[in-house]
Amino acid sequence: MELAIHSYSGGLFKNLACGFLYLHRSHFHHGRTKPLLLSRLFQPSNLQEDRMLELVGQSELTCKSQRLMLQAGLIQPANTGCFHYLPFTVRAMEKLIRLIDKEMQSIGGQKVNMPSLTSANLWKASERWDLLGKELFRLKDRHSMDYCLSPTHEEAVTELVAMQGNLSYKQLPLLLYQVTRKFRDEPKPRYGLLRGREFYMKDMYTFDVSEEAAKVTYKLVSDAYTCVFDQLGLQFVKVQADPGSIGGKLSHEFQLPAEIGEDHLLMCSDCHFAANVETMNAVETTNCPQCDGKLRESRGIEVGHTFYLGTKYSQIFGASYSNTENKPILSEMGCFGLGVTRILAAAIEVLSTENNIRWPSLLAPYQVCVISPKKGSKEELNINQPEFYDNLMDTVPQLHGEVLFDDRSHLTIGRRLKDASCLGYPYIIIAGKRILEDPPIFEIKCQNNGRTMFLTQEGILDFLKNIQVV
Ligand code: ATP
Ligand code: MG
Repeated sequence: MELAIHSYSGGLFKNLACGFLYLHRSHFHHGRTKPLLLSRLFQPSNLQEDRMLELVGQSELTCKSQRLMLQAGLIQPANTGCFHYLPFTVRAMEKLIRLIDKEMQSIGGQKVNMPSLTSANLWKASERWDLLGKELFRLKDRHSMDYCLSPTHEEAVTELVAMQGNLSYKQLPLLLYQVTRKFRDEPKPRYGLLRGREFYMKDMYTFDVSEEAAKVTYKLVSDAYTCVFDQLGLQFVKVQADPGSIGGKLSHEFQLPAEIGEDHLLMCSDCHFAANVETMNAVETTNCPQCDGKLRESRGIEVGHTFYLGTKYSQIFGASYSNTENKPILSEMGCFGLGVTRILAAAIEVLSTENNIRWPSLLAPYQVCVISPKKGSKEELNINQPEFYDNLMDTVPQLHGEVLFDDRSHLTIGRRLKDASCLGYPYIIIAGKRILEDPPIFEIKCQNNGRTMFLTQEGILDFLKNIQVV
């Protein structure tokens, strides 16, 4: 058996693969996660630029997040507007979903998962089969029945709730949500994950007893969205928006100001007023309709959208509840979307420099990257990697699965540091020259605030204890 024949040879960082197996063996019974070796990661990033452009159907890589994500092997184009999400991206996305789950469940959201394939009958009932035109991916089954790949789920969820018969008023508000793939045959898929034809959305649908109650729920969900963006450290603007083809009476968008954003926003310099230009007519555009202050323009990336729907869909599908007098009343609905994959790309877009990816700390695929000494150096003999890893896991258990070892020890530390800087791990630990001191001193770079510290092993552990991981 592979594990039995390897024994740890005592070197410090020496023979990483061997040390790795040693760790695996010694902690087999404790169910420890293996330290991950960078050399083993699937991170293809050697696609030729012209092949890349051909696959994304563009003549140039038009935005920073798309270019960085392709170059760093985070995504790979599959066909126009569709991407393979590679391991780093999937880890970040899973973290984002955990964070969203926590917030949605804290306001009483219950997670469901509805089919992507939906019958045309649903869409014909709401008249959106025709309204959505070419945006809808349509297909037929073997019986020539029409279907589409859902771009959103108002129809499906309302029918689902209607099928339960009369809910009691005591069961409301009902907040159902899911995180699923959505399909839209966008006229201009571009900017990588920012505008895809197949992408992930978190969509929540709410059912309430009255308009008043629905507005309370609307505020509850909007505040939860604020909480999500605050935890990500992303500065957003909440703007009044146009309900568009979804319909309804009240709507807001969460926008991240960015030059490449496709939405035009107007923000008041004096009060909190902010709106998507779509919702305003030209006459009003120089002064704030609320305080007459000066309006300034900005571009934004829409990352979330909230709608109060009223009874538009509950009426069509008969989603009602029985009130205190046992009379059936139509539910008042709301729907709320977060662009999961768009948020990842938009965060990279607004936080990164031209060459270096920066993540919201909570979403970084790995929190820590450890760079070992160069092969054949004196330093190599001065560090016991398995012991270091053990101590780290014992002292900072939340870092399980979060530490990546850059074991490409044939490369200089500088070269590996450049790669680590590009990938944006919040913390890089370097076993450099000062590892020869007594006690050994490590360098730790905090990429999100640019700080560098020199600490002993204990100092590092102490420092890392404060890391938050979702
Ligand atoms: P846009 O105006 O950018 O086309 P939308 O208003 O049509 O978006 P919604 O129907 O409000 O989008 O969908 C909810 C959320 O899903 C959006 O706020 C956005 O974050 C995300 N989203 C929408 N379309 C896409 C897409 N093509 N690719 C990635 N994310 C998307
Ligand atoms: Mg929208």
